[in-house]
Amino acid sequence: MAEEILLEIKDLRVNFYTYRGVVKALNGVNLKIYEGEFFGLVGETGCGKSVTASAVLNLVQNPGKIEEGEILFKQKNLLKMSEKEIREKIRGKEITMIMQYPIAALNPVINNGDQIAEALIANKNMNESEARKRTIELLKEVNIPQPEKIARQFPHQLSGGMAQRVMIAMMLSTEPSLLIADEPTTALDVSIQAQVLSLLKDLISKHRATVLLITHDLSVVAETCSRVGVMYAGDMVEIGTVDQIINNPQHPYTKGLIKAIPSDRSKELVEIRGSVPDLVNPPSGCRFHPRCDYTKPICKKEKPQVLQVEKEHVTACFLYEESRNKKSKEEYAGEYKGGANGRTDSA
Ligand code: SF4
Repeated sequence: MAEEILLEIKDLRVNFYTYRGVVKALNGVNLKIYEGEFFGLVGETGCGKSVTASAVLNLVQNPGKIEEGEILFKQKNLLKMSEKEIREKIRGKEITMIMQYPIAALNPVINNGDQIAEALIANKNMNESEARKRTIELLKEVNIPQPEKIARQFPHQLSGGMAQRVMIAMMLSTEPSLLIADEPTTALDVSIQAQVLSLLKDLISKHRATVLLITHDLSVVAETCSRVGVMYAGDMVEIGTVDQIINNPQHPYTKGLIKAIPSDRSKELVEIRGSVPDLVNPPSGCRFHPRCDYTKPICKKEKPQVLQVEKEHVTACFLYEESRNKKSKEEYAGEYKGGANGRTDSA
């Protein structure tokens, strides 16, 4: 993994001012994404994944408001840039986004080829004939059969999988540094999902881009990503490599997500009890405490600190803090005992 940080989100807080009250959507999110990695952001619907992505693209709109935090992209704080600067230099150029419903995201009155060609003319200084040639190359790259024919068609004439390929071609046309893929396969048939994910993975490595993949499906992350962040109710509760998260999860919510992955038909799926909280009145302390099997009095009062489990692996949970403290006390007691014996022996 490259060690250069491409995107760093620091203490990001976002609220939505609705008629029901203030929705505290992001509660101080911290995240680093390194250049060249495939980072997955996972959690249930409404946990703040898409709000995080919208904030990166400065697309949090009224009634939403970014209250606090920094979003450093190539070390520049995007939150300090004007909308004009973001539009001209960042959005659609340095950072692009693949949406969940490609047919809705593509312009219905412009044919597929022209949509890609227009992006190339606007962002890559190509003339029309260069852009048309490159459009066909890009459609071939995303494995579209008969690319000339598909280029002449309109988005409504495409299947979901084909439309997502056109969208991927368009989003890669500007050679972005960061590609945000927001549930890119959720609306597709299961058989097509794997194809699109594998295509995305191949293209990203070929184009040397970095990906922030947003999904509610931990199995998609396990197949595709190098690192993963787990979000719950506006908080980042655990971050680690895919191996650390799948094989050594520390947060009870992460453990619940893993048990809910359908892996073996003989095993019963275990649901996380309860439901996602209303973020107008989020639970005090750890927002997961009403659903957690290990809740202690402190969990209801204080927000747990983010603690390091091992290199690249962090979690925010009092249960982990307690087990770590217990372990270090035991180690200390062991060392003390060993030391005392040593002194006795040498005396
Ligand atoms: Fe459960 Fe407490 Fe950990 Fe929250 S902090 S996940 S309530 S043990």
